[in-house]
Amino acid sequence: MPLEVTLIDYARDPLTKLYGAYRTCYTPKTPAEVWAEIGDGRIAPATIRDFIQERLKTGHASPLEQVVFWFGISGVSRSLSHQFVRHRIGISFEQQSQRYVKYKEERLDYVTPKTWEKTPGMRAEYDRLMAEITRVYQLALERGIPAEDARFVLPNATPTNFQVMVNFAELLHIADLRLCWRAQWEIRHMVALMRREIVKAVPEIGGYLQPKCGDKRMGYCDEPVKDWEQCPIGKVRPHKEQIFELFRQYKSGHLVPLGEDDLRKVEDAGNEE
Ligand SMILES: Cc1cc2nc3c(=O)[nH]c(=O)nc-3n(C[C@H](O)[C@H](O)[C@H](O)COP(=O)(O)OP(=O)(O)OC[C@H]3O[C@@H](n4cnc5c(N)ncnc54)[C@H](O)[C@@H]3O)c2cc1C
Repeated sequence: MPLEVTLIDYARDPLTKLYGAYRTCYTPKTPAEVWAEIGDGRIAPATIRDFIQERLKTGHASPLEQVVFWFGISGVSRSLSHQFVRHRIGISFEQQSQRYVKYKEERLDYVTPKTWEKTPGMRAEYDRLMAEITRVYQLALERGIPAEDARFVLPNATPTNFQVMVNFAELLHIADLRLCWRAQWEIRHMVALMRREIVKAVPEIGGYLQPKCGDKRMGYCDEPVKDWEQCPIGKVRPHKEQIFELFRQYKSGHLVPLGEDDLRKVEDAGNEE
């Protein structure tokens, strides 16, 4: 069963909602007046987009909680779902039940990490174990053990499905953590697919979904230096230690703004009289 992410829906006119939310903060006008201006076209869509882009550069993030998305997610492992449901603010989950849904297939479906496939001999071991788990699970159901107890033998690899409602502020936070190379591969892949869906649907804000080191997010890596050195995008994103080092140099006077004297020093260097 492949991992699938579908953007089921999003709250109507997300950019206008965002504009209304931000504008309410910065104008003496009432929300009714702001929305009347939007409604009769006095505020052009381009103005809305530009205004939002400027606000997104700031740390004023609470209006982003007013933009809401719904996703359908299937074929992810219970190993992923344990991680996913740890996010507890601004996100609601409905997950397939192992009490009400019995796995009736001849062979229990399961997610297989590539490392098991690539390691010689281990794929066969994995499949053998899953077949044995399936046999014991089915036997338990046949003998009258209720599904809620039969499931105790099911592995972390068992697939599960979600319907999720999440606001954009929380999605940014989830992307910060889970698009990071240090996140586990399966949840990283799932959040990458969620990101792609939003980029397609609302590109004006979708591009802000980045790992925390991204230029639109914190901008630097705060993970252990050893991990940053191995990260595939470590070469293009700085580590916080580098930034602090630069700051230390600056504070100790080794790094000062260029003055006219400095410019004179290089003006004729190499071509002196
Ligand atoms: C690479 C990685 C490794 C991890 N390893 C482990 C592990 O070994 N063991 C483990 O148990 N978990 C682990 N986790 C899970 C992690 O500890 C969090 O539970 C998970 O990332 C959910 O994120 P969050 O706490 O920011 O919750 P969210 O709900 O996404 O939080 C949203 C925001 O609200 C704030 N917030 C939420 N609740 C509170 C509160 N009660 N008080 C104050 N502020 C709050 C958070 O600080 C956050 O800024 C790991 C996560 C990652 C990304």
